[in-house]
Amino acid sequence: MTALEALQTYFGYDSFRPMQAEIIESVLAGNDTLALLPTGGGKSLCFQVPTLVMAAGDSEGEGLCLVITPLIALMKDQVANLRERGILATAIYTGMSREEQRTALDNCLYGPYRFLYVSPERLESEEFLKRVTQLPICLIAVDEAHCISQWGYDFRPSYLRIAEIRNVLDVPVLALTATATPEVVEDIQHQLGFRQPNVFRTSFARENLHYVVRRTDDKQGQLLHILQRVPGSAIVYVRNRKRTRELAEFINSQLSTFNLADYYHAGLPASERNAKQQAWKNSQTRIIVCTNAFGMGIDKPDVRLVIHYDLPDSIEAYFQEAGRAGRDGQQAWCVLLYSERDKAIVKQRIPNNYPPAEEVERVYQLLCDYLTIGLGSGRDATFALDVEQFCTDMHLPFLTTYSALQLLTNAGYIIYNDEQDLQPRVRITLDKEDLYHLDESPFQERLLSALMRRYTGIFTEAQFIHLPRLAEDLGSTEFAVNSSLIALAKQHIIRYIPAQRVSIVHFPVPRQAEVNLSARVYADRRKVFADKLQAMLEYAENDHYCRSQLMLGYFGEPEAPLCGACDICIANRKAEVSNQQPKVQYCYNPV
Ligand code: ADP
Ligand code: MG
Repeated sequence: MTALEALQTYFGYDSFRPMQAEIIESVLAGNDTLALLPTGGGKSLCFQVPTLVMAAGDSEGEGLCLVITPLIALMKDQVANLRERGILATAIYTGMSREEQRTALDNCLYGPYRFLYVSPERLESEEFLKRVTQLPICLIAVDEAHCISQWGYDFRPSYLRIAEIRNVLDVPVLALTATATPEVVEDIQHQLGFRQPNVFRTSFARENLHYVVRRTDDKQGQLLHILQRVPGSAIVYVRNRKRTRELAEFINSQLSTFNLADYYHAGLPASERNAKQQAWKNSQTRIIVCTNAFGMGIDKPDVRLVIHYDLPDSIEAYFQEAGRAGRDGQQAWCVLLYSERDKAIVKQRIPNNYPPAEEVERVYQLLCDYLTIGLGSGRDATFALDVEQFCTDMHLPFLTTYSALQLLTNAGYIIYNDEQDLQPRVRITLDKEDLYHLDESPFQERLLSALMRRYTGIFTEAQFIHLPRLAEDLGSTEFAVNSSLIALAKQHIIRYIPAQRVSIVHFPVPRQAEVNLSARVYADRRKVFADKLQAMLEYAENDHYCRSQLMLGYFGEPEAPLCGACDICIANRKAEVSNQQPKVQYCYNPV
């Protein structure tokens, strides 16, 4: 089977997008490869297609791709997508029960599975590392590979463990990212131990996008003005969850109902998030006011306008979020609202994200006390943690405490996982004897025996259950299983804790007496953070250089042409027409 045949047979597409064929060819030739494609450029196919080709060419029909990716939500999406196409795929992440993890690994060992998705934290588990060497892995794909780099805006220390996996698995690696700054590109290849430098990239230029910065002290007024001027689907990014709602309400109170606005953030329950996302995708809602939790994995082609109400943390983040506009190639606007007053507020983000080391240590010790973990104990324990409650109970400030949890995660003391969809849990509260004397409906009876068979220990402790699997066991639907569980709970036969969205904290090591934050997780990162923020401020305050050129130069494309479409280029053209001094003084060249 050729790559093109695999593309057509499994995915139903006619031809490759730019660079996909070259990347796939490089992977099939057994080369370590770094693929730089912008968001939406089609990175997933770059590891999916060659894996299917390799498996088809293997005499035993074996071939499994280990996909390492930090985004659990996207992982689930991709697994579901592959399954829809009749390709076996599975995922392992923090929060799954041990039994579920073991089952997933067994499936990969014994079944014709093609893709195993794991979060980087899995690589810290000795058991996982031992088992992974037994699997018929033919390729390691590292998605969101900028996370492996110090210089990437989303650095995750657990990504550095991938190098260890490479030592025990002698297969090529494919790294994928949409972050193209030269330092990151260099670092990814270095960290992953590329035998030879090998980078494929397309230009990140987006010719149909108009980048604009509006300086104003009346952001609300400007927002309404722009929303009225530019018709079509719009996204408004703000940084604060509460503000998403307030702004959406403000828009709805000021504009006609045709301009319906809704809000979205990661704190909402999954069902509500899906409904809001769907309504916006179908253009029933025109405007979505959201935090940066919105947009990942959403592929709406006809977004005409992306407004940033607050300054993003970096040019990478801005480029990615603004880039959700105009996927269909038609003209679209990316507007940043900026007020002179923002500068001081924005600078405050540095200490907010990097509170003093003593404070981080204090949060750690208080957290352990709060969860009653004694010194030297707690290894491998997982707790649901309501951070706001924790802060209230321990008299801690929310913002810096939250940052401290992230820093402690980066330093390996804990794994704090913000907003994870927790599987439902069940405990059978009657004892076995009493169960036999009940007369449940036949379906309930079968459900109870399926629960007992699948989840040992269900009589003593609430066990995580997997609705799709139970539905499969019973030849029924998730909805029917769920209703039946609710009915059983009402009869006090079981205790049922439905699926919920919670934050989880896990302790990979026992409680330590003190906290040491190495330069790599603290001082160096703080500097990277401050530098990126500074570059973003310079973008906002720039009034000399073409905005597109400025960004592309930052991404290592110093030769990019003037876009002719940003506010600076347009002001420049107007000045030329009226014979005034042009605004653009010279082309932006970062070197
Ligand atoms: P990225 O990870 O680079 O952001 P994805 O891999 O999620 O992008 O792909 C974005 C979308 O493009 C998906 O819906 C995918 O199915 C589609 N796509 C990818 N490659 C092709 C192709 N060759 N032809 C048509 N559609 C494609
Ligand atoms: Mg992707």
